[in-house]
Amino acid sequence: MRSARPGVGVTEDARLTEFEGEVSTPSPPAATYAFDPTGAPCEACGDRVPRRFRDENGLVCGDCKQWRV
Ligand SMILES: [Zn+2]
Repeated sequence: MRSARPGVGVTEDARLTEFEGEVSTPSPPAATYAFDPTGAPCEACGDRVPRRFRDENGLVCGDCKQWRV
């Protein structure tokens, strides 16, 4: 009898869907910079800027961001 254990197939399907969801998730762009329309203080110099970039010191303005060439 093939339908002796119907619960097995359901469990496998659920795992497969969960796995695909993780793989298809792209890297969030927010990891490199943060945008705040009202402005937010740079964690290095304190200037209030709408766009801050993630650096070793935290979220800093474009002037404080140490760009790696
Ligand atoms: Zn700054």
